[in-house]
Amino acid sequence: MKTILAGCMIALGLLASAQAAEPSAILLNGTVVTPERVIENGWVAVQNGKITAVAAQKPNIVGAREIISKDYIFPGFVDLHNHPLYAMFPKWVPNQKFPNRYQWRNHPGYHKIIQQPEDILVQKYFCDMDAYGELMALMGGTTSITGLFEPADTPKVEPCVVGLARNLDWASGFYGTAVGQERIGNVLGIWPSDQKLSAQTLSDFKAGKLDFIGVHLGEGKRSDQVNASEFAELEKAGLLTNKTGIIHGVALGDAEFTKMAAAGTALIWSPRSNFELYSDTADVPGALKRRVSVALAPDWSPTGSMNMLGEINYAARVIEKNFGGDISNKQLFEMATSTPARIAKIDDKVGSIKAGLYADLFMLSSKNDDPYDALTVAKPEDITLVMVNGVPLFGTLEAFTKLGMSTSETVAICKLERALNAAQLPEGGLTALADRLYGALAGQNIVLGNLVSC
Ligand SMILES: [Zn+2]
Repeated sequence: MKTILAGCMIALGLLASAQAAEPSAILLNGTVVTPERVIENGWVAVQNGKITAVAAQKPNIVGAREIISKDYIFPGFVDLHNHPLYAMFPKWVPNQKFPNRYQWRNHPGYHKIIQQPEDILVQKYFCDMDAYGELMALMGGTTSITGLFEPADTPKVEPCVVGLARNLDWASGFYGTAVGQERIGNVLGIWPSDQKLSAQTLSDFKAGKLDFIGVHLGEGKRSDQVNASEFAELEKAGLLTNKTGIIHGVALGDAEFTKMAAAGTALIWSPRSNFELYSDTADVPGALKRRVSVALAPDWSPTGSMNMLGEINYAARVIEKNFGGDISNKQLFEMATSTPARIAKIDDKVGSIKAGLYADLFMLSSKNDDPYDALTVAKPEDITLVMVNGVPLFGTLEAFTKLGMSTSETVAICKLERALNAAQLPEGGLTALADRLYGALAGQNIVLGNLVSC
């Protein structure tokens, strides 16, 4: 047994056998938040990776494993803006705020402690870095994630991205088991240097092969001229479309929101990273007023939230303090589930709890009577189960026992014991994974960042 030097997380043991016995039928009982309706003491039936029933009465499925609880059952979060390969880095606290994203991305301090080490380590540790980022997301209720930009000099598709959270842009599982079939892409920015890095995605988009692209744009202070000029570049590039999501959009105002609404272009909001880097964020009430669809996403852990649950917590404070409480907690929840699924054209697959959709969901223990209020104060230690494609990946030991999971790795999350599905983890489980990353980062004089924030 080894100790992982990652803050409050300690690996307690790995019980591994040759094959994970994952149940083929599961019945979950609790307060189901679909979110079209809330069913108290309701049931969700899961069979062969899909949700097969959502009901007030217990569905009759012979041989199903059951969890009977008073927990909330939520659809898993759909994260349309992240950079999971940076999840291994500790929090980055620059001693200044920046006018725009180009200032910090060219800053020697940033290069020394994040970008250069990332460029070096991704060559050898891509799979471990990806798994660490996906585990960080899963522990906060995210079941679908994006942002695995392929470095130009590593193989374009790595089979290791299959498993754990869905990688919507690399291996969602929606189009069979082969990787590289996805219809979602990411574009790092609107200027030529970033467009060059995203050339393949843009070419696929123009060829009609993609249903959605997220484009970083207008990231910085809204008063900054570079930010303000980027929307016109997006229009010139023919990217103001109903398949586009503008990531950040701090510089956007009423004129741009009007054009976005007319074109069907969405906004993806990452408030914590915005405030930490620029002391400013997007005018989300203004965007909603013009009927622009807005999704919430954490961006990345160095300056954003570690997971979607953390970002919901943070966004709720911003709404209260900066937006006069103009957005409800239910709207905020939808910004992390059904809205991003609709924006990315995958709402027939994930983003809510409905028969026929994939069984991507999580359960949350809370004393709060309102499900949406509960989320704004929830912590990762309140999560009792996370499943993707009907496969339990993370949860309490009790939940794993009830589901008959024969292999699991036990970890301490914020001093509570939690189980991870060992069969879905890289070799040696999280213990070995974190040890490898810890050693790799130590070679760059960097300490492995925490996986959860307690
Ligand atoms: Zn980003």
